[in-house]
Amino acid sequence: MIIMQFRTIRTALDREGNIVRASELTPRSRGTWSCRSCHSVLRLCWTYDNGGYFEHDLEVAENIVLKHCEYLLTSSDKSPSLFTQAVSEILQRTEPLPKVPSSKDYFCVLCNHAYYGLRKCPYCLNSLYSTETALRDTQTIPKKWAI
Ligand SMILES: [Zn+2]
Ligand SMILES: [Zn+2]
Repeated sequence: MIIMQFRTIRTALDREGNIVRASELTPRSRGTWSCRSCHSVLRLCWTYDNGGYFEHDLEVAENIVLKHCEYLLTSSDKSPSLFTQAVSEILQRTEPLPKVPSSKDYFCVLCNHAYYGLRKCPYCLNSLYSTETALRDTQTIPKKWAI
C-alpha cells in the first residue's frame, strides 16, 4: 500500500461550502469538512504545538480522488519530514568539537625564538609572549626566522 502524504491542510469547506480555518475551530469542534481541492472528507486534527489542521480521512476517501488532490505531496516536491527537519536542525546546531591544543608554529617575542609545538616557549616556559607565527605578518618576523 502506498502511503500518501499531504501538505498540512489549514482550511476546508464546511457543509455549506464556506471556507473554514482550522485556527477558528477548537479541538471540540464537530462538523463535516471537506477538502477544498478534492472534496474528500477531512478530519479535524489537533496537536498541542501546531493547533488545528485537517487531514484527509483516508479510510473514507477514494484513493483515485486523493491522487488528484493538490495537497498531495508528490515525491518530487515532498517537503522534508519533521524527522529530517529535526535531524538537520541538530546537525546545524552541532558545534565543532572542543579545540584540543594543537601543535603550531609559534614565536616568542620575549626570547626572540621560534618554535613548533604546543604554545609554551621552551626557553622562558611561558606562553604569554608567544604568538602564532601564522597570525603574524611575516614581514615583522626578524630576518633570522624568516625562511
Ligand atoms: Zn484533498
Ligand atoms: Zn620565550
